[in-house]
Amino acid sequence: MNRRYRVVVVGGGVTGLMAAMLLGRGVPGEALEVTVVDAAPRPDFSPDGDVALRVSAIATGTAALFEEVGAWDHVAAMRASPYESMRVWDENDSPDSATALRFDAAEFGVPQLGFIVENVLLQAALLQRLDDAPVDLRFACPIRAVRREARCYDIELGNGTRLAADLVVGADGARSFVRSAAGIEAQEWPYEQTAFVTHLRPEKPHRATAWQRFLRDGPLGMLPLADGRVSVVWSTTPGRAQAALDADDVALGRMLSDASDYVLGELGVAGPRGAFPLCARHAQQYVLPNLALIGDAAHAIHPLAGQGANLGLQDAAELARQVHRALGAGLHPGDRPVLRRYERARKGANATMLHFMTGLNRLFATDSKFVEGIRAAGMRVFNRGGPIREHAVKVALGVD
Ligand SMILES: Cc1cc2nc3c(=O)[nH]c(=O)nc-3n(C[C@H](O)[C@H](O)[C@H](O)COP(=O)(O)OP(=O)(O)OC[C@H]3O[C@@H](n4cnc5c(N)ncnc54)[C@H](O)[C@@H]3O)c2cc1C
Repeated sequence: MNRRYRVVVVGGGVTGLMAAMLLGRGVPGEALEVTVVDAAPRPDFSPDGDVALRVSAIATGTAALFEEVGAWDHVAAMRASPYESMRVWDENDSPDSATALRFDAAEFGVPQLGFIVENVLLQAALLQRLDDAPVDLRFACPIRAVRREARCYDIELGNGTRLAADLVVGADGARSFVRSAAGIEAQEWPYEQTAFVTHLRPEKPHRATAWQRFLRDGPLGMLPLADGRVSVVWSTTPGRAQAALDADDVALGRMLSDASDYVLGELGVAGPRGAFPLCARHAQQYVLPNLALIGDAAHAIHPLAGQGANLGLQDAAELARQVHRALGAGLHPGDRPVLRRYERARKGANATMLHFMTGLNRLFATDSKFVEGIRAAGMRVFNRGGPIREHAVKVALGVD
């Protein structure tokens, strides 16, 4: 007998839409009826508009996932910007010194390490595929309640509609409503940093390189955009981030040129501005019977290595893999042992990345000469090669 199961994905960000795309495929004879519910209006991408404020570094391995679901061609046809190199250095150093971290795609026999893509374009590419899939998309539709029933969840939408779900996927971001409604605690580690984000036009070419300078207050990242600009993520004190938001264009250009140590010459203001308070957060459980958390709802990490969305997309892929496996074996996709397999596959990997990013951020935020010495020695060893570097490269490429 063919069975049909109802899946409600709460959150239509990149991870929720990817989960819907993958889950919606089902397995022969066992179908999943997938609904996506998002509080925000349907995201709209226009190739004629300016590059959106929020962009993500998407690793090559993650881009392969978009290819697998037929969404990458749309991204590539619009404006994905490949990056071929990464340079990471300390404020007392230069990006060309022996103690700066270097990764070059050519060294690993790949054309690029990844791509800088607008978040809204990733969503639009997935939505274009989902429009042709048997998935019910409901935007501008906040949820009012998530209640546990005997073997399912009852989800009440803002307009009073109720949906029953054999499996609820909480993909509703760092302040997940699903997570709190289900009573899942999350541990928090505030960074006391705010990420100031904008686009800048550098005097010198960015050379398809992702640049990151570690300052005492936090790292300054500059990601190459296809039109020659760089997208800046400056993690700094909340006060400095506010000053950057309030500064006039000339003062802001000077502030960020100083922070970047003029590695790309003078930086000219050339885009919108925004600020995001930073906090690491990890859910104590990813799953309960009939419920799974993915993406930022399960874990939020420091943006310094551009891994948050990449990890969330891997969660989506792993959850779909385990659900399909269970369906193939005649199991209920919401059974705890099925969902626990997803949790076991992802929680450890995400925790490692979360704590590594927190540690790295702290390692550079010190004036200690002793720590500086260890850091420089570590960087030299890292650049010489070996298993740690190989592992880091796999993570950067998203093929770990
Ligand atoms: C400054 C900055 C730079 C970053 N750079 C990178 C990078 O280079 N590379 C990278 O991989 N990651 C990066 N990240 C992290 C990345 O942006 C996030 O990890 C990713 O966007 C999380 O996606 P998500 O779909 O899990 O959650 P979100 O993008 O937060 O999406 C959640 C969705 O849920 C919806 N929602 C929320 N509440 C409800 C509700 N009650 N009912 C219905 N819907 C709801 C929201 O409307 C939203 O659409 C960065 C983060 C920051 C802050």
